Amino acid sequence: FSYPLPANEPVLNYAPGSKEREQLKATLAQLKSEQIEIPMYIGAEKVYTKNRVPIHPPHERNFILGYFSRGDKKHVQQAIDAALAAKEQWAAMSWENRANIFLKAADLIATKYRFHMNGATMLGQSKNAYQAEIDSACEIIDFLRFNVHYLSEIYKQQPISSPGMHNRVEYRPLEGFVLAVTPFNFTAIGGNLPTSAAMCGNVVVWKPADTQVYSAQMFMRILKEAGLPDGVINLIYVDGPELGDVCFNHKDFAGVHFTGSTCVFNTMWETIGRNIGKYKSYPRIVGETGGKDFVIAHKSADPDVLVTALLRGAFEYQGQKCSAASRAYIPSNIAKEVKKKLVDGVRSFKMGTVEDFSNFINAVIDEKSFDKIKGYIDRAKKDKDATILVGGDYDKKEGYFISPTIIETKNPQYVTMCEEIFGPVLTLYVYPANQFEKTLELVNQTSPYALTGSIIATDRYAVELATQKLSNAAGNFYINDKPTGAVVGQQPFGGGRASGTNDKAGSMLNLYRWLSARTIKETF
Ligand code: GLU
Repeated sequence: FSYPLPANEPVLNYAPGSKEREQLKATLAQLKSEQIEIPMYIGAEKVYTKNRVPIHPPHERNFILGYFSRGDKKHVQQAIDAALAAKEQWAAMSWENRANIFLKAADLIATKYRFHMNGATMLGQSKNAYQAEIDSACEIIDFLRFNVHYLSEIYKQQPISSPGMHNRVEYRPLEGFVLAVTPFNFTAIGGNLPTSAAMCGNVVVWKPADTQVYSAQMFMRILKEAGLPDGVINLIYVDGPELGDVCFNHKDFAGVHFTGSTCVFNTMWETIGRNIGKYKSYPRIVGETGGKDFVIAHKSADPDVLVTALLRGAFEYQGQKCSAASRAYIPSNIAKEVKKKLVDGVRSFKMGTVEDFSNFINAVIDEKSFDKIKGYIDRAKKDKDATILVGGDYDKKEGYFISPTIIETKNPQYVTMCEEIFGPVLTLYVYPANQFEKTLELVNQTSPYALTGSIIATDRYAVELATQKLSNAAGNFYINDKPTGAVVGQQPFGGGRASGTNDKAGSMLNLYRWLSARTIKETF
C-alpha cells in the first residue's frame, strides 16, 4: 500500500478583516488569559515538578504566559524507560495504523488547532502571523503528510529474486531509543524531528529548547489526541548536560536527531565517541546546525530581485533562521541603487508586538540572544572597517527589540561577514563588478558553514559558474531567490560542512537514517 504524494497545505494570509484574522486574534487573547501549567509527558504520566519556569513572550518580557515544569536526570531516565517499555508494541503495529496517527495529527492542526499552534508560536517565539502560519501550521502539516508518503515509498523498495531464491528487505526501526533535540526558531522542526523517527517505528525522548516549550507542548497534546500511544514520544524539559549525561551513557541509545548550534552538535559527537563501546549499535547522528548564508549578485542582476531577496532573506523572523541571508556580495555597478533601496526598505518595516498584525519585525528570542546581537552591533559602531547603513538601535525595556541593521564593510573577512549572529543583521561587501569569479572563491572560503546561499543574476553563464564553483558552499542553493523558506516536498532542506550532516529534512534521505534494514534470503 502506498500513500499518494500529498499537496502542500495552503497558506492562509490573515488579511485585514478576514475571518481567520479574527479567529487568530481571539485565540491569542484566550492563550494569554490561561496561564497554563505545563507538565512533561513521560509514558502515560503528566509530570509536574517544583521547579516551575515562567514563560514570557519575547516581545512582552514582563508578561507570564504560563509555567513549565523543569525536570532533571531522574526524568531523563524515566523518559528512556517509558520509551523502551513502549517499543515492542509500537514497532509491531502495522505501518498503516501507525501512519494514520500522524495523518490525523496533521488534519487536527489543519482544521481544529491551526490558530492554537500559530498563537502559541506567535506568543512563545515572537513570530508574526505569516511567519507562524508557514511554520506551525503549513510546514508541520507538510512534514507529517509528506513523510508518510516518503516512508511508504521506502517500504516498497525490494531487491530482485530469481527461481529457487526469494529475497526481501525488512525496514525495521533502530534497536533502542532515539533522542530528538529541537530549537526555538521553527515549531515545525519540533514537529518533524521526533515524529519522523517515531513514524519509522522508533520510540523517542524529545527535548525542545526552553524557548520552544510553549508550542512544543501544544503539538504534543495534538499527537495524543490523534492517538499516539503513551511512551512513543516522551517530552521532557531538562538542561542539555543532564540530558547528555543520561542519554549518551545508555546502552540503548540508538541515535540523535538534532537541530541547534554547531558547538552543541560537536560536543554530542565527542561524547558519543568517548562512549562508543557502551552501545549495542553505532548510533545514528543526524544534525542540522549553524549557517552563515550568502547572497552573491552578478553585475547582470536585477536590482529589485536582489533587494527583495535580501530584505526577506535577512529580516523575516528577525533573521533567526539558520538559512537567513547574513552576508551579501554586491557588484559595484548596482551598489548605489541597491544600498538606497535596502535602506528605504528597512525604514519601511514596522517593529513591535505580534498582536499588532502590521508589525513585520518582532522581538528576538531572549536576553542572551539580544546581548549577543547587540555585541556585534556595538562593535560595528566602533570598528573602522564597518559602517552602519541603517538600524543599529536596540531596546529591551518591554521586549527584546533590535532594529533591522545593515552593516557595510570593505573587509570581506570582517567579523560579521564570518560569524553566525542569528539576528536581524546583514553585512554587505561591495566588490569590483569585473571580479565575479574571484568573489565566488571568496564566498566559498569565508565561512566554515554550508547551509544555504543565493546567486542573483540574469546572465546564464554567471548562474552556471556560481552553481559549479559553489557546489559545496550550500546544501540549499537558490537562483534568483532568497535563501530562506524551503518548502517540504519542494526543497529538501539541509547543509554540509559545519552546517550539519545534510540528511535533508522532509525527504527519504532523512527517513532512511531512522531505519535499520534486514535482508532475508530464502532458497528452495
Ligand atoms: N527550513 C528553514 C528555511 O528554509 C530554515 C530552518 C532553520 O532555520 O533551521 O528557511
